[in-house]
Amino acid sequence: MINIVLFGPPGSGKGTQAQNLIEKFNLKQISTGDLFRYNMKNDTELGKLAKSFIDKGQLVPDQVTIDMLIDEVKKPTDASGFIFDGFPRTAVQTDALEGIVKDVLNDNIDVCLSLVVEDEILVKRLLKRGETSGRADDSNENVIRARITEYYAKTAEVAELYKQQGKYVEINGVGEIAEISEKLFAEVEKIK
Ligand code: AMP
Repeated sequence: MINIVLFGPPGSGKGTQAQNLIEKFNLKQISTGDLFRYNMKNDTELGKLAKSFIDKGQLVPDQVTIDMLIDEVKKPTDASGFIFDGFPRTAVQTDALEGIVKDVLNDNIDVCLSLVVEDEILVKRLLKRGETSGRADDSNENVIRARITEYYAKTAEVAELYKQQGKYVEINGVGEIAEISEKLFAEVEKIK
């Protein structure tokens, strides 16, 4: 199996690049942001709880997020591996993911691919996406900046953990989508 953590601030192109990786390597994507949005749309208890954090640009508490992820990893799949998109975002989640992948899949995380994009480009991209996505957290510049700040504050420790394990690879996330995909594919080929 190929198990990838796809890493990058909001607006770095994680979703788009995850899609290209999925098709290329037959992977199943688990995006915690998408799972929360699905729950909010359906007005579930989890969705209501998540909304109170997400609308303010804050992270949803670890245990809530981890429990949701476990349910998702346990679902049967014929994929050749997983892309974790938007998870882990904290050190607690990083440890939890290692345990979940080991216990449920009898496997481990192979690599953390990190898309690097500077802040001002991220803000511009997200405001543009907000014009059409209808996402409340994409339409307000203050909320966007809070999400980017929160991302760096809380995820620096995640990057550090993967660096210590020799699994952290940075990819320039600015440029043509296909060009960025090729760079990601080359990194995945190395761990296959
Ligand atoms: P995203 O689509 O990945 O930018 O996620 C949108 C929002 O969902 C984030 O700003 C957080 O509020 C929440 N969220 C997504 N993934 C996580 C996670 N791993 N831990 C905590 N909160 C999360």
